[in-house]
Amino acid sequence: MSKLIKVLKLESGSSQRGANQNRSRALVAGGAGFLGSHLCERLLRDGYDVVALDNFHTGKRYNLNALLRNPRFTCIEHDIVNALPLGLQFDEIYNLACPASPPHYQEDPIHTFKTSVLGSLNLLELARQNNAKIFQASTSEVYGDPFVHPQPESYFGNVNTHGPRSCYDEGKRSAETLFFDYSRTYGLDIRVARIFNTYGRRMQPDDGRVVSNFIVQALRGQDLTVYGSGMQTRSFCYADDLIEGFVRLMNAPSAPAHPVNLGNPGEFTIMELATLVISYTNSRSKIVHRPLPVDDPRQRKPDISFARANLGWEPKISLSQGLAQTVDYFDTLLYGSKLVKGAAAS
Ligand code: NAD
Ligand code: UDP
Repeated sequence: MSKLIKVLKLESGSSQRGANQNRSRALVAGGAGFLGSHLCERLLRDGYDVVALDNFHTGKRYNLNALLRNPRFTCIEHDIVNALPLGLQFDEIYNLACPASPPHYQEDPIHTFKTSVLGSLNLLELARQNNAKIFQASTSEVYGDPFVHPQPESYFGNVNTHGPRSCYDEGKRSAETLFFDYSRTYGLDIRVARIFNTYGRRMQPDDGRVVSNFIVQALRGQDLTVYGSGMQTRSFCYADDLIEGFVRLMNAPSAPAHPVNLGNPGEFTIMELATLVISYTNSRSKIVHRPLPVDDPRQRKPDISFARANLGWEPKISLSQGLAQTVDYFDTLLYGSKLVKGAAAS
């Protein structure tokens, strides 16, 4: 039996959907996480009744504080690997449940793999029973350490099947397979986004990904830990831009026949990112080098031509603007104060 953080209000004899015939109901698996909580907020603003489902592995209850004051929001504590609670009815399902940071997804790799495969199966079955549209948060990690640059959706990728990142990469690849097989077999309306590195408010200080690590280290006056030479590249998308892409993909009149890249095509070396963070925090921190993790992709940059042409979507927030906002967020979280920033948002 799932623990309810807030009791679902079910009128006797009526389904949850029946409780309000006019509003659409959305389920957000992983709704207490960094991106999931932003998505829940956005869906509530768009008029949905929203239920978050989360096992609180990396998600936090305090991400939901403001949301739980909204009578149209409910959260169920549940692990999607296990059979879902009975009686759930939704028009739309978003699957964001999965630890996304390498140290977190490698803590319990078998559970990470089960989350992507068994969790996706459970949600796909729910979508089938509800005749609901379903969204999958896939990842640029399906391209592995790519030989094609930038990465278009048509690239099949270069992924190690048995390394420490494989539980995540191969789990997400298998989930894509399941989504497209459910679409072909049952005619399910699926939307699959391949998300490139995204950052912003509500990341946890101990998340372990590079943007949060560098900002927290700089604010604490600690050395910034660059793994390897720092010449590897990533493309960083601000969370608000990404959520707009999610909604546009979900609301597109017809389902794209393939996964869709969502990310910011600006490409930066990790050394460039470290230098920017030091400048934006006015920090005296130094840069130190640590070993490069196994199978760390050397370069990554999305080709977003499809999203531009078919969703009318592209990121609007520059890295400097997004970093300034994220520095403010962590500064307030850690110290409750505002720093004088070393660089203005451009
Ligand atoms: P996150 O770790 O903050 O959020 C994941 C959420 O899923 C957390 O609330 C966690 O508690 C929950 N969760 C994990 N396993 C679960 C399970 N078995 N059952 C129920 N809940 C579970 O990460 P995020 O950055 O918000 O990522 C959200 C989704 O987007 C993930 O699926 C991730 O793979 C995908 N993604 C994110 C990025 C990014 O850069 N942020 C990039 C590519 C893909
Ligand atoms: N990285 C780093 N220092 C850190 C954390 C990460 O240099 O403290 C590097 C990491 O090796 C990778 C890049 O930054 O090359 C992005 O790492 P992240 O974990 O954010 O995302 P992913 O590797 O999944 O793209």
